[in-house]
This record gives sequence, C-alpha cells and structure tokens, in this order.
Amino acid sequence: MSALNQKTIKESIQFDGVGLHTGQLVNMKINPAEPNTGIIFKRTDLKNNNYIIPGIFNVSNANLCTTISNEFGANVSTIEHLMAALFGMGIDNTLIEIDSQEVPILDGSAKIFVEKIKSAGINTSNIPIKIIKIEKKISFKDGVKSVSIEPNKISLDIDFEIKYKNLLIGTQRNIVNVYEEDLTEIYNSRTFCLYEDVEKLKKMNLAKGGSLENALVVKDDKILNEGGLRNKKEFVNHKILDCIGDLYLSGYKIIGKVICSQGGHKLTNQLLREVFQDKENFSIVEIKEKNIPHSLINRKYLRSIA
Ligand SMILES: [Zn+2]
Repeated sequence: MSALNQKTIKESIQFDGVGLHTGQLVNMKINPAEPNTGIIFKRTDLKNNNYIIPGIFNVSNANLCTTISNEFGANVSTIEHLMAALFGMGIDNTLIEIDSQEVPILDGSAKIFVEKIKSAGINTSNIPIKIIKIEKKISFKDGVKSVSIEPNKISLDIDFEIKYKNLLIGTQRNIVNVYEEDLTEIYNSRTFCLYEDVEKLKKMNLAKGGSLENALVVKDDKILNEGGLRNKKEFVNHKILDCIGDLYLSGYKIIGKVICSQGGHKLTNQLLREVFQDKENFSIVEIKEKNIPHSLINRKYLRSIA
C-alpha cells in the first residue's frame, strides 16, 4: 500500500444539500474509478455532452467560487472544497455524478467530504501516481493581491495571508505543508463573509443558499454563528482550503511552494494558466519505486516523463 500509487474510494458515497449560490437542492454521488481516470464530473440532469473535467483551462468563472465548463457549456460550480478534500485524501480517480449545476455547500467546509471519504475507505492500485514539479518561479499580481509558485524540494507548501479592514478578521497568515501536516483544521474551516456583503450578494442573485449553517458571517467585531470559530485561524485556513482545491485543477499532486497575499480563486487560476502554458515551467514525474513514504521522496527517485 504505497502513498505513491493511485487511489480511489472503496465504495460510492452520497451527498444531498443546497448549492451556496444557486440555492438549488442537489444530489451528488462520488464513485470509485479505474486508475488513470482522474477526477471527472458528470451532470446526470443533462442527457448529452455532460462530462466536465476539472482542469485549469476549463475554469469559466472564478469570481466567488470556481466554476468549470465543458466545450458544450455544461458546467459545475463551487467545486473547490470537494477538490481540496480529494487532493488532501489522495484520491486520484473518481467519477462524480451530480444532478444540478452546483456542488452542495454542506457546512461550508470540506469536513463532511473528508469524513465520508474516510468512512468509505480507500482503494490503492498498483499504478504509480504522477506528480507535477514546478521548475521555475512564476508570479502574478492584481493590485494589492499577489500569488507566486516556485520550485520546492519534496513538498507542497502554502503560505497564505489575508488582510481585512474588518478588525475581527484583520490580518491572518498561516503556512501549511500539505503532505506532511495534519490538515484537519484546514478541512474544517468554513467559508466566510461580512454581514454587509450578504445583501449585496443576494441582490446579485448569488449566495441564495447561504445561511449561518454553511458560512461564517462577521458583523463588525462579532461572529453571528453560534459557537464562534472552529479554530483560531479559520478565515485564512479556509483560504488555504480553497487554494488546495484550486491547485488540484492542475490534475496531479504538485511539488512547489505557493505564496499568496489576499488572493483567491481567480488569482490562483490566473497563476496556474501562466504556469501551464509553458512546458519550461514544470515537469511531470512518475514515481517508479513502490512503498516509499512521500516524506522520503528524493530527486533521484523521480523520473521525468515530460
Ligand atoms: Zn471556499
């Protein structure tokens, strides 16, 4: 059972809930899939042309959440928390059947996705995983927002900072080694918004399914949710969760270091588009040796196939 072989879930898992932005009820089923399938969405409410691949060049909107579309215009939105759960749990292959256009928001975090994946169990194949290794530093800026990705030895590190005028959120920073650290606090961190933005979003016909059940709402120096925060850095930790999910649209695990200040879905996608439009910026490697814990991956074990 190697951490370096491709994995899927042992049995299908089912989710019901509302979409955060559409407010629509949705049923979603995550199914086991063969090695080299990757992650694929299937819109079961559409008869034809209903497979959608969560790839960086398929992102059609990344303003408030990440939406992917296929060439026929079929789309799935708010995929990022589910993608983060799949990335963190090491799920390489799965077919996700969904009967609406938005992934259920559940509690606003990846907690329930992770719990159900754990309870379904994981099947490890004998086919090795592929890993993207960042070879060159690429930076992207948009006003005060910035993001960069650079080469790293063996891990994926995410260094994220947020700066809010709201004093309760304020400035928060966290650095996470995605493959080595316990990600429970990251998975459990909920999406958040300012109370004054809730009405604005609803007027824009967004956040129709939003409630205190699925988002942290901050009003001045108060959190309106009963029980308050789940962890001290819940705000920035949620941004790291989003970042992990959006990085998985590259298709494979990544070895690199991401540094982001005040970014989000759109900036991450703009960065990745820049990285993957030039083959000089990255290589794809396949780990041939079996049973090497990922913490011991050394360059000499990596064979470039790109
Ligand atoms: Zn999010």
